[in-house]
Amino acid sequence: MTATDQNSIAYHAGEFKTLRDCNVNISTHALQYGTMVFGGLRGYYNAAHDNLYIFRIDDHYNRLVKSARIMQMNPPKTAAEMKSITLELARKNNFRTNTYFRPFIYKSDLQLSPRLHDIHDAFALYTVPLNDYLDTTRGMRTAVSSWRRIDENIIPTRAKASGGYINSALAKSEAVQNGFDEAIFLDMRGMVSEGSAENIFIVRENTIITPHLASAVLEGITRRSIIELARSMGYSVVERDVARAELYICDEAFFCGTGAQVAWIAEIDRRVIGDGNIGPISSKLRDRFVNIVNGEDPEFKHWLTAVY
Ligand code: PMP
Repeated sequence: MTATDQNSIAYHAGEFKTLRDCNVNISTHALQYGTMVFGGLRGYYNAAHDNLYIFRIDDHYNRLVKSARIMQMNPPKTAAEMKSITLELARKNNFRTNTYFRPFIYKSDLQLSPRLHDIHDAFALYTVPLNDYLDTTRGMRTAVSSWRRIDENIIPTRAKASGGYINSALAKSEAVQNGFDEAIFLDMRGMVSEGSAENIFIVRENTIITPHLASAVLEGITRRSIIELARSMGYSVVERDVARAELYICDEAFFCGTGAQVAWIAEIDRRVIGDGNIGPISSKLRDRFVNIVNGEDPEFKHWLTAVY
């Protein structure tokens, strides 16, 4: 379990203060209706460089601003301001460990009606020390969820909105309580969508395949990075509809996301994937990704922002 450090410095209501002092009123709109949009970024500490590298910080804040737009929010800070608050917060905490950053914009008025317009928004940021979110040293045992991924026209999954994560929580708990590590969602059409908090890729005959963006997925920044990385390594990558049974006959499968990083899948609905070990393409992508995020790959250094 990952716990927050209540003594760490966070940011709330326009100031840096200890996390234990960052509190909201119980009648806050976001708490009542899930009207909050969030980001999740990772900082990787490289001890040899004595530096903390934040992965694709501009892309994360650009997505957060887009999520806010979907939710008719007026963010009190620009993407550039949120970025500089993040870097300042990392320095104030003097982080020298892998760290997860959780920025969010929420409807902060004490307001009873479930609506989006005419409600003020606030920005806050806190952090959690985080190594693996999913265990990347072994294969994930997964199952297709009995819960469907929320449709774009129910709660847009393109907005990383807290209310939408009830859907993720239902699927994750069902999977874990049934003895699996992670759930795989189908969308409302019955096509493969994503995991509870990560995008999914499969490999069939050396082609890397991932559900396209109209499969009720979050527009994952790691997903986009893996596509770009794989293409740069000479692999062919296709974004298309993926049928459930393709999960059973693929050669390799893996999840990716800020939390998950690259987490390979060993089993789906009790079918062993490949020979039950990490496949060659997943393993090459994972190793390269780990090098990149730790600041060891000159070709992709532009994806990182050094804190110190
Ligand atoms: N899908 C969902 C539902 C998620 O919560 C996440 C994690 N943010 C992802 C995919 C992966 O997105 P990213 O690579 O931007 O972290």
